[in-house]
Amino acid sequence: MRVSVLGSGSRGNAILVESGSTRVLVDAGFGPRALATRLRVLGCAPESITGVVLTHEHVDHASGALAACARWGWPLYATAGTLAALPEAMVPVRTIAHGQAWSIGDLAGQSVAVPHDAADCAALLFEDRRTGERTGIALDLGHVPAPLAPAFERLDLLVIEANHEVSQLMAGPYPWALKQRIAGDRGHLSNAGAAALVATCAHAGLRGVVLAHLSETNNSPALAVASVHAALTRRGRAGAHTSVLAASQRFPLGPVSSRGGTAESSVQMELRL
Ligand SMILES: [Zn+2]
Ligand SMILES: [Zn+2]
Repeated sequence: MRVSVLGSGSRGNAILVESGSTRVLVDAGFGPRALATRLRVLGCAPESITGVVLTHEHVDHASGALAACARWGWPLYATAGTLAALPEAMVPVRTIAHGQAWSIGDLAGQSVAVPHDAADCAALLFEDRRTGERTGIALDLGHVPAPLAPAFERLDLLVIEANHEVSQLMAGPYPWALKQRIAGDRGHLSNAGAAALVATCAHAGLRGVVLAHLSETNNSPALAVASVHAALTRRGRAGAHTSVLAASQRFPLGPVSSRGGTAESSVQMELRL
């Protein structure tokens, strides 16, 4: 199983999950042209995508979804709440419900509701039915809800939001109301929140953690990675083989593989967009 990030942050999110011949795009917060460019950088033709799954309807996750589905015939998977919050469009749709299994190519999918100021935000779990490998993705959540940790047991790969360092957000330039929204229960996950979830998920088989949706104002990749490393170090052997990487808004990252060796095989690529 492999995970690549086309880009992640408040100006657009899209993540590629690959297993066998199945290629799932999680979120499509870039227009079709940017999606195609970033997919090609990762060696993936847009025509080869099996389907797109949306975490929620916010523009930085969904702005390109309907146009891309219309152009390439991708089926669109999302919760009823997310679908209802999108504009009407003539694209093939599959409604998913929390706690119920669905399938996309060779992958079994499942969603868990996460607290965020959207209609019905979903964390996603993908399991390869042939190999049992598992990838969990949680973007845009104010805090980690109780059902998430058990759903994310025995992951091979984890993509988790690490939006801000709380002290940097509070001392930074944002208006007070916006700081409150971001740090609130239905806002965005801090480095400390991400680190706590990673520590809970740590086990010998967790090969890669990708930190996503980093704020360019209220965080830095070094700070986010250091927080998570510290949490893994406290877990000792459980996190000894886990690579931690920070995704960027501007550069595709990946692939990060469930077979390990992520630090060597992953590349972060600069695009001239
Ligand atoms: Zn959001
Ligand atoms: Zn977002």
